[in-house]
Amino acid sequence: MIDLHAHSTASDGTFSPEELVAHAQEQGLSAVGITDHDTIGGWDEAMEAGRRLGVEVVPGVEFSVEDENGRFHLLGYYVDRQSHLVSQLAQLQHERAARNEKMYARLAEIGKPLDPARVREIAGPDAQIGRPHIAQAMLEAGHVATLQEAFDKYLASGGPAYLPKKVLTAQQVIEGIREAGGISVWAHPPFDRGKRSWDDYEAIMRRFVELGLRGVETYYWTYNAEEAAHMRAWAKRYNLLESGGSDFHGARKPNQLGTTQLGPVPDDVLTALKARIKVL
Ligand code: AMP
Ligand code: ZN
Ligand code: FE
Ligand code: FE
Repeated sequence: MIDLHAHSTASDGTFSPEELVAHAQEQGLSAVGITDHDTIGGWDEAMEAGRRLGVEVVPGVEFSVEDENGRFHLLGYYVDRQSHLVSQLAQLQHERAARNEKMYARLAEIGKPLDPARVREIAGPDAQIGRPHIAQAMLEAGHVATLQEAFDKYLASGGPAYLPKKVLTAQQVIEGIREAGGISVWAHPPFDRGKRSWDDYEAIMRRFVELGLRGVETYYWTYNAEEAAHMRAWAKRYNLLESGGSDFHGARKPNQLGTTQLGPVPDDVLTALKARIKVL
């Protein structure tokens, strides 16, 4: 059993990279992908722990991208740390920090002030601060009764404290992953399930394939049988690698490491992924 989609404190997970790998070992996984949002900051600690604990750590990044059809998540596995793509992530982190400052200012203006030092504590010393951490600080400060209320009333797109985040385009990321020697995978394609038809999702899929996409998540924590079947059909139709996992975030979400609603991810998914790198 493996899991190729998991977050650590390097982004918005609650387990440190080392704890994530230790948890993978406890769950009996032979490999775990560390796929933090827009950062490779957890790789070194995770790989070191993996060597010590005998768990194969698959280095990944979950990129937030925009495209003409909306905003999507793309996973990149085994990208070269020296690549242009990875250097672009550092720039995005810089811009994210500036966005957070503006969100604190907005919240203060509407009478919901936060202590930025406390948000940093909540996120952990290495994490990129994002809206989930801000929501948690709002809950602690008594500004809201639930995390969801923080999003619904203040932080969600269109809310009074919302600010858009600069992101790379799908083309930049898919081409960047290829140039960086990695494998690109479309994460959880039917993410806004119900809002679009299967034909609409597939049109986006075709666009990504034209840009050079290499894989699709055919396994995902929330997939039902219909969604999984659609993803497998696409993988066949477009000659894509199958990938996926739990999207584990520690205590922040109910997702369980190493499993999905339809069962675990088989080892041969990773075997096929690595085989495809070798023939690049
Ligand atoms: P950020 O990168 O700071 O824009 O935060 C993005 C994260 O916020 C997502 O990965 C979700 O975990 C969370 N999020 C975004 N929108 C919502 C929402 N409407 N309700 C709950 N969580 C959300
Ligand atoms: Zn996340
Ligand atoms: Fe995602
Ligand atoms: Fe994720």
